[in-house]
Amino acid sequence: MMVKTDVCIVGSGPGGALLAYLLAKQNISVILLERNLGVAREFRGEFLNEEGESILKKLGLFPKVEDLGLLRMEQIEYWQDGQLVKEIFPDAHKDNLGIHVPQNHLLKVIVDEAQKLNSFQLMLNTRMTDLIQDEAGQFCGVKALKDGSELIIQSPLIIGADGRFSTVRKKAEIPVVVKNHGYDLLWAKIPAPYGWKPSIKNALVNGSQLTLFTQAGGLIQIGWNIDHGSYSQLRKQPFEPFIEKLIMNFPELAGMVREHIQSWQDFILLDVHSCQCETWTKDGVVYWGMPPIQ
Ligand SMILES: Cc1cc2nc3c(=O)[nH]c(=O)nc-3n(C[C@H](O)[C@H](O)[C@H](O)COP(=O)(O)OP(=O)(O)OC[C@H]3O[C@@H](n4cnc5c(N)ncnc54)[C@H](O)[C@@H]3O)c2cc1C
Repeated sequence: MMVKTDVCIVGSGPGGALLAYLLAKQNISVILLERNLGVAREFRGEFLNEEGESILKKLGLFPKVEDLGLLRMEQIEYWQDGQLVKEIFPDAHKDNLGIHVPQNHLLKVIVDEAQKLNSFQLMLNTRMTDLIQDEAGQFCGVKALKDGSELIIQSPLIIGADGRFSTVRKKAEIPVVVKNHGYDLLWAKIPAPYGWKPSIKNALVNGSQLTLFTQAGGLIQIGWNIDHGSYSQLRKQPFEPFIEKLIMNFPELAGMVREHIQSWQDFILLDVHSCQCETWTKDGVVYWGMPPIQ
């Protein structure tokens, strides 16, 4: 099958979905490809700062996201070895210090709004596999597998919003320098105990940073910094002394932690690195990414 569009965007994360919506609003025909069956994902960037909030408000999307559920942070705390050392509260004219927005809520609102526009088309279960070039070397389309069948999309502009391991970037041969930041992150989620305030708690635990992000839906997301590349060694060590450090620093979480984080398998590893490109464009291709976690 072959289709044509003005712009083909690969990847329906926050970057690709919002860009597709904004272009379609300008009556530019856009096809947005997403390899997954839906846009909902786990463990992604979910905290909005003031700037992100104001963009969603400006676009009229914020109330719709709020209807689906979000949570305003009331305080940020700094802890060291079990002691609270600093608390920050919102300025008098503000009601939050950041907002937790589940990424599936954000993406659902953006995609639902975009789908009201004739110029927008979302193709789920569609994996971009290659770029197509014309005789002059200009990129002019993509090859994809949609529901397992080959699809050709002809487009004078291809935007790679396909994340850190971008196929578009690789196929366009845009060189990249990978930068490690010295740490990786272990993520886990537990239910928040009764009375837990919407907060971000940064703790130094034996010299490592541990952060507890309160989330909409009554959850706490735990992010634990470990040395970059150290997880395979860490996993060979007994789990109990590791998790005990969290419990000693936040004893009120003991019950929830013991119930929901019982082994290394209950953590998800995020290999923290960022990619720097000298150029973001090449002959009909633009590489488009949200900044990675720092
Ligand atoms: C485990 C994890 C935890 C994270 N936690 C945080 C956090 O707590 N806070 C924070 O600020 N940031 C966090 N991040 C980073 C944050 O998720 C990213 O910065 C943000 O999602 C980038 O948005 P994006 O739209 O550029 O790309 P992505 O969100 O990565 O979206 C890319 C999309 O492209 C799709 N795709 C990829 N290849 C293809 C293909 N060939 N064909 C079709 N579709 C394709 C993917 O399925 C995906 O939907 C985390 C990332 C990960 C992986």
